[in-house]
Amino acid sequence: MNNPSDSPYIEVEGRGCSPAVAALMLRLRVFCNLRWLVILGIIVITLVATGVFRIDFPTLPVYIICGSIALYNLVLHFQVRGLGKLPPELLVSRMRNYGIVHIVLDVLAFVVLLHFTGGVENPFIFFVALHIIGGSAILRRGTVYTIATIAFSWVLLLIGLEYAGILPHVNLGGFVSPTLYKEGSYLLAVAAALGSILYATAYMATAVTSELRKRQREVVKLREHLLQEKTGELEQASQQLVNLEEERSRFLRFLGMTAHDLKAPLAAIQSYFKVMLGGYSGELNEKQTNMLDRSSQRITELLSLISDLLDIPRIETGQILEEMKEVSFLEVLEHALEDLRDLASQQEVEIKTELPSALSPVHASAARLQQVMTNLVSNAVNYAASGTVTVRVAEEDNHIQVEVMDNGIGIPPEDLPRIFDDFFRASNVETKGTGLGLSITRRIIQAHGGSIWVESPCPETSVGSKFIFTLPKKHEAEGE
Ligand code: ADP
Repeated sequence: MNNPSDSPYIEVEGRGCSPAVAALMLRLRVFCNLRWLVILGIIVITLVATGVFRIDFPTLPVYIICGSIALYNLVLHFQVRGLGKLPPELLVSRMRNYGIVHIVLDVLAFVVLLHFTGGVENPFIFFVALHIIGGSAILRRGTVYTIATIAFSWVLLLIGLEYAGILPHVNLGGFVSPTLYKEGSYLLAVAAALGSILYATAYMATAVTSELRKRQREVVKLREHLLQEKTGELEQASQQLVNLEEERSRFLRFLGMTAHDLKAPLAAIQSYFKVMLGGYSGELNEKQTNMLDRSSQRITELLSLISDLLDIPRIETGQILEEMKEVSFLEVLEHALEDLRDLASQQEVEIKTELPSALSPVHASAARLQQVMTNLVSNAVNYAASGTVTVRVAEEDNHIQVEVMDNGIGIPPEDLPRIFDDFFRASNVETKGTGLGLSITRRIIQAHGGSIWVESPCPETSVGSKFIFTLPKKHEAEGE
């Protein structure tokens, strides 16, 4: 949301400005830079006119005027730089005022220069229109017409004063006839051309710039609107997330309570079945024994599902953190494998281990890590049916890496993305199961700050599956 490219504001001198303000500031700077070029241009033209074309006119006043332009340009340059410190509400009006000062000074310098370089004889007289184009980039439409009128009347005044002999006329000797400035029809034609150029330029330039400004305002409005819309959507989405999170924790509480309430009566029923199956409540015939045995098996499955269901809220509510201490993973693995050897030999599966001689301790819950290893290895044994299961442990720089490989049925590729989801069972299994073992395993590993993934078929053997998980050597738990 705070991405600068999303903001309708532009960074100018370390502060956010609207595009209009940024554009004004940039144009004032461009004016200052252009003025240096203009000074250079005047000097070059003067040198070429006098040196190459041998046009005769006094050059000293020209250089003095260039010096004056350079002087006020320096002042204006620092004024423009100082604008950055002004409060935003003063910026636009102050910039426009500076713009008027810049252009009026330029027009004045132009008229004085014109006087010393032939007045009405100077073909560059029409360059006065460039001030109108510049002005339209910063000033309002009305002000641009005022500047055009000022420029026009000052040039007319100059021509008039020279014509009347009140101001001495400087002839561009060798370039035009010395009496041209006295020829009424020529003066009238220049005045008419100048007037029409000035006002036509004012009209065209202000029309274009006001259109541009309008578009700029529309773009800013649109971006602001989009930004508001995006912010609204984001707020809505984050509210939905909060609601979902609340709903989820309510559901987890409910799950925990229900599973807990179901567990006690089921355990009691199970113990009655065991008593009856043991023959302590009287002789049972074969059919009764069979039925009770099957019921007892079902209750065992149900109790295992309930203990899985109870695990989810316990892990999610951060109970693991309380159980964490420095643990030797190799010891945890040994305990887990001790319990699993029976199951493995029943299934004619051999469990092989590839272990380092020493391993850094991990900050973990020993009971939960044992649950992880039991889940992964018992799955490997169950889904291998016969063959080998390999458990490999390696130490890396920041974590230990554990791999459980089997050469069993593997996991179909389309099921891989969902294999760690709650209650998910792959399409190629027929045996009974809850589909919760892997999702609980993932939760435990993540609660330890590690990660878990699966590769199937196992890359080394091209059959079966390989479950890999990592455990950070030092878990960055809260408060550590
Ligand atoms: P359960 O084993 O009770 O079904 P799990 O969450 O432990 O539940 O496993 C989910 C599913 O992942 C299994 O049903 C099975 O399809 C697949 N699976 C897990 N481990 C293996 C394995 N080693 N080989 C093949 N499939 C596996």
